[in-house]
Amino acid sequence: MIKLPDSLPFVCLIFFLCFLNCSNNCQANQSPGKSAVQEGEKTFQWPDGARAAVCLTYDDGIDGHLDIAAPDLEEVNLRGSFYAQGSSHSLAERMEDWRALVDRGHELGNHSLFHPCIRTMPDGEVREWLRPEYAFENYTVRQIAAELKIANTLLQAVDGKPERTYAYTCSDHLAGGESFVDEIRPLFTAARTGGDNIVADMRTLDIHLVPSWGVVDVSGEAMIDFVKKAEGAGTMAVFMFHGVGGGHNLNVSRESHRKLIAYLNAHRDRIWTGTFAQVMDHVRSERHRLGF
Ligand SMILES: [Zn+2]
Repeated sequence: MIKLPDSLPFVCLIFFLCFLNCSNNCQANQSPGKSAVQEGEKTFQWPDGARAAVCLTYDDGIDGHLDIAAPDLEEVNLRGSFYAQGSSHSLAERMEDWRALVDRGHELGNHSLFHPCIRTMPDGEVREWLRPEYAFENYTVRQIAAELKIANTLLQAVDGKPERTYAYTCSDHLAGGESFVDEIRPLFTAARTGGDNIVADMRTLDIHLVPSWGVVDVSGEAMIDFVKKAEGAGTMAVFMFHGVGGGHNLNVSRESHRKLIAYLNAHRDRIWTGTFAQVMDHVRSERHRLGF
């Protein structure tokens, strides 16, 4: 009779573990796509394999948005977000046109009633165009929250939409020196601020403080470069326009605007251009799926 060594059970265990390891590796080698898909399932994804999202937003509710910006977008079947304050003359005079704009798929966003801003900037510069009664220094947090709530009601009367996004007026979020960001979270699905940057990281983004680039007198090429930055980072680029081809004291030429739009249209396979509400709905659902 052959005598088995005492270490046999241990040797068998080692062989068994080696077999398991080989079997796992073999499976991985047979289906290389599986681990890539699993990896993708854990990372932030844009719809239809896009690499980045772009939002074109237009502030202050002026006629040029109805007559120039929106037609430029519609020529290539893109849609934008239009932030009109309740005191906008265009909104009062051409309400049916604004309603029709939303019916064609654009977004009408909240930009307050009276367009309050900080009047005296931290560097001492004074916004002389702003009437003192609409200076954020003289507001309270509850006052701006109440104003934005009424603006939501006004806009719902125009377009019938129960949900809204917000664009901070002058990108300011202090009333009486106090932040009102937390107070207004329940009023909006998302909110856009300034900062002149792309979104750095979709996971850590505060959806009520989404950065944007306030474009004034810039070329189409410079705006395309901004989009490419977001493509490289896999995040989103938000543009804050005021006038397009005139009509405001902050303008971008129509030619530059069209150049950007042509680029977005030509690269639909990798850039998703949507309204701010649409893109932020996707951001919220992706973040929910990924658990952050
Ligand atoms: Zn504004």
